[in-house]
Amino acid sequence: MPRPVGPGRAGPEAGFVHTFLAGRVVLGAGALDLVADEVESLGVRRALVVATKSARDTADVIEEQLGDRFAGRIDGVAQHVPSEVADHARAKAREVDADGIIAIGGGSAIGLAKAVALTSTDDLAIVAVPTTYAGSEMTPVWGETAGGSKTTGTDPRVLPRVVVYDPVLTQHLPKKVTAASVANAIAHCVEAVWTPKADPITELSAVEGLRALAGGLRQVLPEPTDLDARSNLLYGACLAGSALATAGTGLHHKLCHLLGGTYNLPHAETHAAVLPQVARVNAPAVPQSKARLEAALGSADLAGGLFDLFAAAQVPTSLKELGLTEDQAVEAAKAFKPTDNPIPVTEDLVREILTRAWAGTRP
Ligand code: NAD
Repeated sequence: MPRPVGPGRAGPEAGFVHTFLAGRVVLGAGALDLVADEVESLGVRRALVVATKSARDTADVIEEQLGDRFAGRIDGVAQHVPSEVADHARAKAREVDADGIIAIGGGSAIGLAKAVALTSTDDLAIVAVPTTYAGSEMTPVWGETAGGSKTTGTDPRVLPRVVVYDPVLTQHLPKKVTAASVANAIAHCVEAVWTPKADPITELSAVEGLRALAGGLRQVLPEPTDLDARSNLLYGACLAGSALATAGTGLHHKLCHLLGGTYNLPHAETHAAVLPQVARVNAPAVPQSKARLEAALGSADLAGGLFDLFAAAQVPTSLKELGLTEDQAVEAAKAFKPTDNPIPVTEDLVREILTRAWAGTRP
């Protein structure tokens, strides 16, 4: 009987467990035109459209395409799925008798669709049209925030049935948002090689995802509207999201969630400051994976190479720039609960990671 390989041993020799998640991906310039066909193929008769603020024009196009299958629309979503916003969306889904939801936007829009599907008594199919690189569209992970605290969980009902990636929709994603969102996706790829659920199949996605994301970021910086670069980035985000879906999270993501939840730091940017420092201590414990990630990144040193990539993209590489104080970094290290990791997670180790991330010290 194969057993999970555990942190740092993602090789087939040790045996592994990998669950393939069902879902269909359509990627290409102009793929937006295919959304109504995909909805029809799923057998959805009454589709509720959920769109982030910046995607209203795209939602208009989809509304027209859907014709009789259009059931209603929610414009505007909020970060981290506040429960009032989720309750409003649930009521709207019931009111229009929706049997499917089309979510257009980043992780916040897709998160809202997931919150509705999770609690629906009927089977609600989600079609996701992502416009950032956060990767939520590829995972069965949901989250909802009530009374200042975010609850998350995993449920197959929230996994989108179809994901339509159209690079045209991301051509005008601002440079700053692009760079931070790519850093978030890169964190999914890098951490996927050392979580307790790491496995060789997930590692394939993670390594190829890093190659596409790092290459796409270098391409898009001088040419933000370049469709090849934007296609590479969406391809990388898709692989990164699927790696996150099967590998789950580890030390890096848990630190980012603690910092985001306690000190209200911005989700995507926090990854850029913390990831190089976690890679500096963890990667040497998984030498084969480290070498594969370095080849994908195009650097002889994973941690330093990530730091340089983020700095070149002008994503903040220190927590100080995000408004954290040094005392808060030390306080967070004290509050952090140990987690499964290739090397033991002690308070000293976490303090070292967070004080370096606070100062933005290049690994
Ligand atoms: P987001 O969805 O909040 O979008 C960020 C901002 O960018 C918003 O103001 C949005 O309107 C704007 N925007 C989005 N696309 C745009 C475009 N193409 N052009 C111009 N502006 C655009 O942020 P996000 O980083 O995509 O998602 C973050 C959320 O997703 C967090 O709540 C995070 O916890 C969650 N998340 C969940 C998972 C999961 O598996 N469940 C995975 C990753 C992230």
